[in-house]
Amino acid sequence: MMISVLLAAALAFTPEDAAFAHKTAAAFVSECTPRDAGTIRGGIAANWLLDRASMTGANVRRDIFMVPTPSGERRFVNLYAEYASNPSSRWVVVVSHYDTKPGTKCPGANDGASTSALLISLANALGEWRTPKGNVMLVWTDGEECQGEHYSEGDGLQGSRRAVEYLREKERQVQAVICIDMLGDKDLHISIPENGTQSLAKIARHAARRIGYPDLVTLSTDRVKDDHVAFLAAGYHAIDLIDFEFGPGNAWWHTPEDTMDKVSEASLLKSGRLICEMLNILL
Ligand SMILES: [Zn+2]
Repeated sequence: MMISVLLAAALAFTPEDAAFAHKTAAAFVSECTPRDAGTIRGGIAANWLLDRASMTGANVRRDIFMVPTPSGERRFVNLYAEYASNPSSRWVVVVSHYDTKPGTKCPGANDGASTSALLISLANALGEWRTPKGNVMLVWTDGEECQGEHYSEGDGLQGSRRAVEYLREKERQVQAVICIDMLGDKDLHISIPENGTQSLAKIARHAARRIGYPDLVTLSTDRVKDDHVAFLAAGYHAIDLIDFEFGPGNAWWHTPEDTMDKVSEASLLKSGRLICEMLNILL
């Protein structure tokens, strides 16, 4: 009896979830490209995700905010889906950006769409799942990409900085923030940048072993600027799970080459299983 209860409590990510994520990413790319950070089409993409995420039964909150960027005031949109058994207990937050890099004509199939679709599949998997040990929040961020060529003060990481404000305002007890980026790559090698919480990196490696892919996740000595940086700066425990080797020498990153033929269901399955296993360990 006890065993069946424990098994029922484990969060699973199935091949069907991966197929759904792949289909969703393909539809998102074809219907919502471009969706550059801080543009009207970015807002339309947010509505598209809101529609798809709410179809899973999730109660999704849309957060529209204006930010003065170096290229003028821009409008950004975050989405939040919360799965709470006891909101005053601890939270694990999983984050994906959905925007595309302005000025690159990049469809962002891997960079943005793959993990945003993964979050929608995760919303499906989380549907009825609750654990008394804590709560899960899914965040789709806008404005991860900067308007300029490089990140600068006030440019980039808009959605993650906004999510920090939201978590603070709600006085959420955040145990961990897991940012995911570029995890649909057919040739999947997930690395964890050095700038992140080491205990969470260990949990990611442990989760990879538990799902039978001990080499899926490696620890990198690189420092990467991604949404997790905003959470780290706010004092939260956070890591970035990223495959920052997209094509030979990362040649497809932020180019028109970032298309759906480079994204596979098999990689989405591994990534989805990894994230679910981390949630099973953390909660
Ligand atoms: Zn990017």
